[in-house]
Amino acid sequence: MTSLSVLITGRATMNAHKSLGGVTANIFNLSLEGHNIQKRQPLGKEDEALGAALKPLVFRVDETTPRVVQSVLLERGWDQFDEQQQDVEDWNLYWRASSFRMVEHVNVKPWQRLNHHPGTTTLTRKDCLAKHLAYMRRLYGESLYEFTPRTFIIPNDYTKFVAEYFKEKQVLGTKPSYWICKPAELSRGRGIVIFSDIRDLNFNGTYVVQKYICNPLLVGRYKCDLRIYVCVTGFKPLTIYVYKEGLVRFATEKFDLQNLQDSYAHLTNSSINKSGASYKKIKEVVGQGCKWTLSRFFSYLRNGDVDDLLLWQKIKHMVILTVLAVAPSVPVAYNCFELFGFDILIDENLKPWLLEVNYSPALSLDCSTDVSVKRSLVHDVIELIHLNGLRREDKKCNRASPGSPRNKQLELCTIPASPPYVSLIRFTNRTCSKTNPVVQRVVNVYPKHTRTSQLREMINKQRVFLTREGAKSKPKLRACHTTRKAFSPYTPVAQSQPHRMKGPVGILPEAGYAPDDHVGNFVLIFPFNEATFGASRNGLNVKRIIQELQKLMNK
Ligand code: ADP
Repeated sequence: MTSLSVLITGRATMNAHKSLGGVTANIFNLSLEGHNIQKRQPLGKEDEALGAALKPLVFRVDETTPRVVQSVLLERGWDQFDEQQQDVEDWNLYWRASSFRMVEHVNVKPWQRLNHHPGTTTLTRKDCLAKHLAYMRRLYGESLYEFTPRTFIIPNDYTKFVAEYFKEKQVLGTKPSYWICKPAELSRGRGIVIFSDIRDLNFNGTYVVQKYICNPLLVGRYKCDLRIYVCVTGFKPLTIYVYKEGLVRFATEKFDLQNLQDSYAHLTNSSINKSGASYKKIKEVVGQGCKWTLSRFFSYLRNGDVDDLLLWQKIKHMVILTVLAVAPSVPVAYNCFELFGFDILIDENLKPWLLEVNYSPALSLDCSTDVSVKRSLVHDVIELIHLNGLRREDKKCNRASPGSPRNKQLELCTIPASPPYVSLIRFTNRTCSKTNPVVQRVVNVYPKHTRTSQLREMINKQRVFLTREGAKSKPKLRACHTTRKAFSPYTPVAQSQPHRMKGPVGILPEAGYAPDDHVGNFVLIFPFNEATFGASRNGLNVKRIIQELQKLMNK
C-alpha cells in the first residue's frame, strides 16, 4: 500500500497544540501514524489567527443516515446540525440514505455537500441498468459489455425471454438451464426466485430475469460475491474512485443446484445469511459468519496461484464501463458525490460478472469485518470529498523561488507516493502550466481557505481525543492528507462565518484540474490517462474514452 506524504508545517502542529492549551505531541503523532510527514516552512501570523478562529464543520443527518457516518464525523471533530439552534444553511455535509429533491440540489450552497447526485438511480435500478448496458452493447459491441449475465426486463421483454428460454432448452437437450428473477426496485435479496422451469416464473410488476451464473467460484463449497465500493465525485467532469478494500459476502449453506429454493445457498446477501442456521457455525474455509474483507479474499486467491491483480484490473474496467453507460444521461450538479456498492460475482473461470449496483450501500456494522471496512470507508469518503473540486499541484510545478508568495502556497499541497498505475495518470502538464488561467486562479484566489478547513478538522480531531474517555482504544485517525488549492467558481463567503467553507466547492465542467491519484484507500480509476482526461472535460466523449479503454484492455 502506498503511503501519503503529508506536507505540513511544524508550526501548524505547534499552533494546533497551542490552541488546545498545550497538548502533548503524542496526540498529534497518533493522528499521523503510518504516514510520512515532511515538515515544511512555518505558517504565517495570518494562519495562526485563522487557526484560532476555527469552528467545527457541521454535518446534517436524518433518520436514514447510517450511524457509522455520524460516529465517524463526530470522531473527526464535526458538529451535528441542530435545526432548532442553527441557521438553516449552517451545515457543510448532508448525508442520508434517500435521494435529495432537485430543489435541494439547486439550493445547495458553496460550503455544502450532498451525498447523492441527481439521476444516479439509472445506475442502481436493475431494469434501468440493464437498458443502459444493452444500449452500450449495441453501440460498442457485445465483447466489451459481456460482463453482465443476459438480462430481460419483464413484462416488456417477456416474449424475447420465452424465445431465448426455448432456444437454450433445445441446445441443452435434457440438461436444465437456470434463470434468476429479481424485482427491479427491491434490494437485499427480497422477492428473488431462481428457476429452471419457466412455469415457476411469476411476476407482478417490473422484474429482471437474468441468466443464473451456475458455476460460481466457490470458497470451501460456498458461493460468494464481492461488494466493491465506488465513489463518483463528479459526473461532469467524470471522476471515479474505487475503494481498494471491500467485502466478500458468503452464502451460508453449501452451493447446490439441486435445491434452487434454498436462499442460504444461492443468495449471498448478508441480510439473508445472518439469520441462517449456519451463520455462526465454522464453515469449511470460510469460517464463522458470512463476510471476509476483500484483501483477505485476494490473498486467498494469491495463495491458490490466482492472478488477483488481473482480476482487480478487470473489475476496474467493468466499473468504468458501467458508469460510462449512464454518465451522459446524468444531469449536471455540483457539490455532491455518490457512493455506490457494486455487486460482482466471480465464476470458476475467474471471470467477474456484474450483478447489480447499489444505491446507498449498507453501512450497518453487523460484524467485526463490517467495522474494519466500513469505518475506514467512511473516513476515506470524508477525506475524498474534501478533494473534490480542489486541485493538487505537483511538486514539479512549483517553479517559483523559495519564499515567494506562490511558493508558499504550493508548500501546502500533498504529494502522494505514486501507486503502480500512476504513470498512467500523470497528465498534469496542462494543469500545472503556469500560464493556465485555471491554475493561476487556483493559486491566487483562495490560498488560505483550505489550510483553514484542514486545520479546523485537525484541531477538532484532537479536541475530540482529549475530551473522550478511552481515546487510546479509538481506531487510528488518519492525517488530513492534503492541503489543497481551492478552485472555486463561487463568490467567497465572509470570513466571519468560518465554518461556511469558501470551498471545496463544485467543479466547473471546463475545469482543468487533475483529480488526486488516491485518497486513503480510494484509487482514481477514471480519468486514467491524458486522453481520457481530455475526453471527459468540456462534455463527455464516450467513444474516445472507450477507444482508450480498449487499448488498455488489450495490453
Ligand atoms: P438484491 O438487490 O436483491 O440484493 P442482487 O442482484 O444483488 O439483488 O441479487 C442478490 C443475490 O443473488 C446476489 O448477491 C447473488 O448472490 C445472487 N445473484 C443475483 N444475480 C445472480 C446471477 N445472475 N447469477 C447468480 N447469482 C445471482
